[in-house]
Amino acid sequence: MIVVMEAGASEEQIQGVIDRLVMLNFSVHRSTGVIHTVLGGVGPEGDLSPDDLQVMPGVKECHRVTSPYKLAARAFKPEGTVVEFPNGVRIGGPEVVVAAGPCSVESEPQIQSIAASVAKAGAKLIRAGAFKPRSSPYSFQGLGEQGLIMLREAANAHGLLVVSEVMDHTQIGLLEQYVDLLQVGARNMQNYNLLRELGRSSKPVLLKRGIAATIEELLLSAEYILSGGNYRVILCERGIRTFETYTRNTMDLAAIPVVKKLSHLPIMADPSHGTGRRDKVLPMARAAVAAGADGLLVEVHPDPDRALSDGAQSLYPDQFETLMAQLRIIAPAVDRTL
Ligand code: PEP
Ligand code: MN
Repeated sequence: MIVVMEAGASEEQIQGVIDRLVMLNFSVHRSTGVIHTVLGGVGPEGDLSPDDLQVMPGVKECHRVTSPYKLAARAFKPEGTVVEFPNGVRIGGPEVVVAAGPCSVESEPQIQSIAASVAKAGAKLIRAGAFKPRSSPYSFQGLGEQGLIMLREAANAHGLLVVSEVMDHTQIGLLEQYVDLLQVGARNMQNYNLLRELGRSSKPVLLKRGIAATIEELLLSAEYILSGGNYRVILCERGIRTFETYTRNTMDLAAIPVVKKLSHLPIMADPSHGTGRRDKVLPMARAAVAAGADGLLVEVHPDPDRALSDGAQSLYPDQFETLMAQLRIIAPAVDRTL
């Protein structure tokens, strides 16, 4: 912990900070500059928030030296994590892996049709929600277990893995029976009971960034799952809420290289929720792969104009084929395959 004292900080104030750090088992190194006294505290930073020292009299600023997350930090696994599935698909390796499908499972013909389309275009996973976190309680809430059954059958018929959202810790056991990757949605990124329970799951977890979450908060949420013993966590940038209203969310592409530096966990990108507009999905998908995303989550629907959720951001199947064809050109330019 680095504490910079105010220019006129008194000896008593400086000693107050030193005493506090010593009490918390830090060893303190004092450097007296011409203007500021700087205190370097070496010790258990995880137990202390910079804010606790920031508010002490005479303190100008305070900074952590180590990150508040340990298991999610790049240093914990410098070579990077690769999440491998039983069929050999690997997320976090050289291959960019695409998960595609509708926002929600709506019917057997819908999910069968889209599974065929996305598999043919080269997706490795089908995405679709059976439990939907909708802003309005009057909107379509998903088909529940019936939806999961249809989703699994469609995936099996076309050799796809399944990713689907778990909204609550009581649903984990049910979802585990049908899916290969458990999705935690943006609204649940800080549902700590859910994250803790997922730490005990044998299935990998796709953790989406909350709509108002910082990258540090995303990594701390991942830390909950990792600290429970589940090391198969994939992060997902899906856009955050800003003052911009033209797009549904603001897709924070810079989060991709930032996460790559801070963490060993793979990161996917969701240009569908990231923009909310079908015509913006292709350019942002291209950009995400160029920025280093390990995979994409893309909404595709056989008939988006009649979709029960997120139709405006869902691609038509032929647009998805174009997207995949373009990504096959971009991936090798950034040393990836697809
Ligand atoms: C989804 O993937 O359909 C979804 C609800 O995403 P998010 O949680 O990112 O809004
Ligand atoms: Mn959606």
